Amino acid sequence: MIEKDFKAFVLGGLNVGGWYVGDWRIQRPVVDYSKCVKCWICENFCPEIAITRSAVGPQIDFRFCKGCGICANECPIKAIKMVDEFRR
Ligand code: SF4
Ligand code: SF4
Repeated sequence: MIEKDFKAFVLGGLNVGGWYVGDWRIQRPVVDYSKCVKCWICENFCPEIAITRSAVGPQIDFRFCKGCGICANECPIKAIKMVDEFRR
């Protein structure tokens, strides 16, 4: 019998269930707020619900960030960089 893990169920790439996927992450996005122009492209492309808007720029809720790097790739001015999660 095949058992399905419905916690892993996603629809259209969007984490509709709001599941915590932060422990999947091996890299994390870091925002350079001095560069950010608040275009919100990163928010729109994030496949999770990890990014919300604030007056200074995107805020990342790391409970929902799986470290996919899409936000960093899509930022038009490279204001987000991915860093190793375990680097000190
Ligand atoms: S790395 Fe960026 S795009 Fe990917 S889940 Fe985290 S905040 Fe969202
Ligand atoms: S995509 Fe880049 S410039 Fe646009 S809001 Fe996100 S971090 Fe800022």
